[in-house]
Amino acid sequence: MKKIIFGLISVILLCQCSSEKKTTQQLTILTTTSILADLVQQIVGNHAKVTSMMGPGVDPHLYQATPGDLKKIQQADIIFYHGLHLEGKLTEILGKVGRQKPVVNVGDAIDKQQLRIVDEQAVDPHIWFDVSLWQQVAGYVGQFMVAYDSINAVTYQNSTKQYELKLQELERFIHQEIAKIPDDKRILITAHDAFGYFGSAYHVEVKGLQGISTLSNFGVYDVVQLSEFIVQRQVKSIFVESSVSSRSIEAVIQACQERGHAVQLGGQLYSDALGAPDGEAGTYIGMVRHNVKTMVEGLR
Ligand SMILES: [Zn+2]
Repeated sequence: MKKIIFGLISVILLCQCSSEKKTTQQLTILTTTSILADLVQQIVGNHAKVTSMMGPGVDPHLYQATPGDLKKIQQADIIFYHGLHLEGKLTEILGKVGRQKPVVNVGDAIDKQQLRIVDEQAVDPHIWFDVSLWQQVAGYVGQFMVAYDSINAVTYQNSTKQYELKLQELERFIHQEIAKIPDDKRILITAHDAFGYFGSAYHVEVKGLQGISTLSNFGVYDVVQLSEFIVQRQVKSIFVESSVSSRSIEAVIQACQERGHAVQLGGQLYSDALGAPDGEAGTYIGMVRHNVKTMVEGLR
């Protein structure tokens, strides 16, 4: 009996020891947004602990690093960020950190010709709303991980391939769902211009009250222009975003009412941040599915 107990204790100790060893070997990866954290997590699996600086409902255009973030930046083995000026206020810090450790700009995955250039030569950073572009980012992250941690190369190659298949399935879902909205009703109006890539990829006319960054403020003139467009085109619903104040969209609804057109609030879309981790929009795929279903319900 004593021998059995001793044996069991040794096994437990051995397991604890090896699991501890495993956690210390686990890489620490930091991303800026939750959207990017989900993509990286899909590829690295158990080989890394992935955290994002920004949680649900946080706007990356306006985000400034907290003291807690600086500590996370120091502790991370690798940092992934979107680039394309999405993280306006973090770019400088990330540039400096990049001299000491790998800081990967996933915007580099996309060929310049595939990027949307909007007014005054600004690049639209919201590439994740064209699923095929996000798939290129997945491939890019996968390649980076293969080179960085070559012992686990096969795992990263397989998980990238699997995730790419899931993204292809997601893209089929979007086409199917959007087809349910009559052609002349495919008009998506949101608080800021986050859905430009979505519009081009899935044939939806897109308008945002604010530009591609929430840094620019909207004025009375923008509200008037947008509400006139909504009345003219008899748009049924417009949408708020989880990471942008609903005040702007409420002002548009009000202005439409004053012009005798009752436009509805079609619901909340997730644009620049995932939803709560345990909710429907807690993953990138879940977020896109939620957005598409909400659009279809509001517009058809
Ligand atoms: Zn945005």
